Amino acid sequence: MASIRTFEFTTYGYCTQEDARSVACPKCKAEADQKCVGLRGQREQCHQERHWARQRQANERPLQRRRGTTREEAIVVDCPYCGVVAGKLCVGRRGERKRAHRQRHEARIERLG
Ligand SMILES: [Zn+2]
Ligand SMILES: [Zn+2]
Repeated sequence: MASIRTFEFTTYGYCTQEDARSVACPKCKAEADQKCVGLRGQREQCHQERHWARQRQANERPLQRRRGTTREEAIVVDCPYCGVVAGKLCVGRRGERKRAHRQRHEARIERLG
């Protein structure tokens, strides 16, 4: 199963699903704060068009800038330490970890600047 992408990266920064949901979706007509709707019901991931709609507002309402330190940010890349793929939480000896591995934060910063 494909992992759910959590962010859309843009030249402005990144647009989280939450960010995209703050505008109405031009594709499926979901209203602001409502989840996008696809063939199989609600989608966790907003339509690309919705991200674009949000990104058009980036001048007035800036998108989040990379900081490279939160877990949400780190998990957009694969973890070089425990090997989990992008979108999944890091795994430790006792299962999923609350925090991403330090190496993963570094990997993200390295990848995305
Ligand atoms: Zn939509
Ligand atoms: Zn990890």
